[in-house]
Amino acid sequence: MHLYLHVPFCARRCSYCDFAIAVRREVPSRRFVDQLLREWRGWAATDRFPPAAPLATIYLGGGTPSLLDPAELARLLAALRADRPLAAGAELTLEANPDDVTPAVAAAWAAAGITRVSLGVQSFDPAVLTWMHRTHAAAQVPGSVRALRAAGITNLSLDLIYALPEALGRDWAADLDRALELAPDHLSLYGLTVESQTPLGRWVARGAALPPPEERYAAEFLAARERLTAAGFRHYEVSNYGRPGREAVHNSAYWRRAPYLGLGPSAHSAVGAHRWWNRREYAAWGAALEAGATSVEAEERLEPEAVRVEDLYLGLRTDGGVEEGSLPGSLVQLWAHHGWARAAGGRVCLTGEGWLRLDALVAQAAAIPHPGVTDLS
Ligand code: SF4
Repeated sequence: MHLYLHVPFCARRCSYCDFAIAVRREVPSRRFVDQLLREWRGWAATDRFPPAAPLATIYLGGGTPSLLDPAELARLLAALRADRPLAAGAELTLEANPDDVTPAVAAAWAAAGITRVSLGVQSFDPAVLTWMHRTHAAAQVPGSVRALRAAGITNLSLDLIYALPEALGRDWAADLDRALELAPDHLSLYGLTVESQTPLGRWVARGAALPPPEERYAAEFLAARERLTAAGFRHYEVSNYGRPGREAVHNSAYWRRAPYLGLGPSAHSAVGAHRWWNRREYAAWGAALEAGATSVEAEERLEPEAVRVEDLYLGLRTDGGVEEGSLPGSLVQLWAHHGWARAAGGRVCLTGEGWLRLDALVAQAAAIPHPGVTDLS
């Protein structure tokens, strides 16, 4: 069983962010952990997740989970472990902002059982961080990494954002070099997208910012792929690079369509073709739980054809690809001809050029009905 916990609190909203967050000066850690545990116990009492299934991964995402009081985080993890055993070698990830990491906090996280930290670095350029409304300074990142390693949390991932507006003059190669100097185990690279309900969306709407041209997105995606694979990383998913053996276990479960339970506002869950998601706003989610009502906003059961398309989408995101038989041979040949895919050993995998066209290629494959539909219902 894989468990995702959404911690919605942030000190302020980053300029590009449209996640379900709650901006708070003071984080109500105790109340929030009580709400999460109430939600957890509601699910634990159902038969949707076999009671004996151990927790293979726990992922605290957000929001900013590193804003939670470390003592409350420890209480949360201890309560979950008291209800369900952890699998051997379980991966417990915490997303953290560099300015929240101190030696004492890192030690508390390690003592609570956190085995992996994903640091929201985004850039090492101070002007870019200011433009992004990030709360940390670039100079804080090396100290955060040192504190985590000294505390025994040695499985470290760094997040960076690429394809920024040209006017910022961001040096992507320099940022990749700075990241590699810190010898991370894993890197997640996300291309900037402009969402209308964000400060960036409003800047773009009134002409105060220009999104980057598509060529910049492609050039930086391919430059990172070249640089990081040459440095020994495996580009194992379109946005993720890991040293061999350090690929994210939790996220890989999503791409394999393994069952997972999401707790917290806006969290999604899935078991086979059945999926459901929580109320998005923190206040509504918490109020529902405290009133003894459901925190779930809606649910759906995917039709077999939708499962097929999702399998294609998830499989093609990864370097494991999909079974060759799940795609028409003529389409595979076309993709290979353009250099977008490779077929070998009975699998079809996208190349870097193919990943740049992932959505379009999946749409192309989805438009061709195929007999190999799986019925998971
Ligand atoms: S810290 Fe993360 S979740 Fe919070 S506003 Fe910034 S990008 Fe969004």
